[in-house]
Amino acid sequence: MSKASDTESKIKEMDDFIKSQGAAETIQRLIAEGALFVSNHSGGKDSQAMLIKLLDLVPASQLIVAHASLGEMEWPGALELAEDQAEVAGLPFIVAKANKTLFEMVKRRFQSRPEVPSWPSASTRQCTSDLKRDPIRREVRRYAKAHGFTKIVNCLGLRAQESPGRAKRQLFKIDRRGFNSVAHWYEWLPIHELSTPEVFATITQDGQKPHYAYSLGNQRLSCVFCMMASENDLRNGAKHHPALLDQYDKLEKQTGYTMHMSQIPIITLAQAS
Ligand code: SF4
Repeated sequence: MSKASDTESKIKEMDDFIKSQGAAETIQRLIAEGALFVSNHSGGKDSQAMLIKLLDLVPASQLIVAHASLGEMEWPGALELAEDQAEVAGLPFIVAKANKTLFEMVKRRFQSRPEVPSWPSASTRQCTSDLKRDPIRREVRRYAKAHGFTKIVNCLGLRAQESPGRAKRQLFKIDRRGFNSVAHWYEWLPIHELSTPEVFATITQDGQKPHYAYSLGNQRLSCVFCMMASENDLRNGAKHHPALLDQYDKLEKQTGYTMHMSQIPIITLAQAS
């Protein structure tokens, strides 16, 4: 059997298993088979609560924490919060960095194709794929190879309550992008059903504190200025990071395109009362 058809038959076998036995049983099977569970950690409340839940279910020897560093784009302290939580739990901590920044991505796109919008869009989410997902995947592959893991469960703190799109996401599935003859990848959303109050309660009941941006009034956390952020979070970002706002504003003016999905200039959104 060729490697490709071998992979397809393995995918079918596991797909059938997931459908017949359900997510919980599949996860138990993968734990017993020594899979590596990757807790993706942005430094935000959902990642923090997810890691608390994962520590209840997965042996520490099969768990690592991965953070995609976005440099000056992300709230200061996000990486440190993820790193501290990993350290306290005695888990390996991996930092993944893309070979470009968001601003470089936008400038390059503007130079090569000035006729199309230069900023990532909510539908393509090039920032998530190029700056977070792919760099983390690259580092996890390296880690798994070095430590002999051939099954990888990529855990994401996405919740149904966040958006209709996220509500439709499967709790557990085969990750076809990573599944090949060398490694079998899966995707799991361990806190998909949690509400926002339940997320904060999980953190406080564990004796931890969420990132300080929440006490400054933020609803969500990752990039200080996210294309999908609420006006509240943009205003809060502007208040605490005016120099960064200035850089976004300048690049919007230079490209002639807006970064936010509303297509309203960031300076207008951030300064609205
Ligand atoms: S937080 Fe928003 S802007 Fe930043 S990478 Fe994620 S989707 Fe893109």
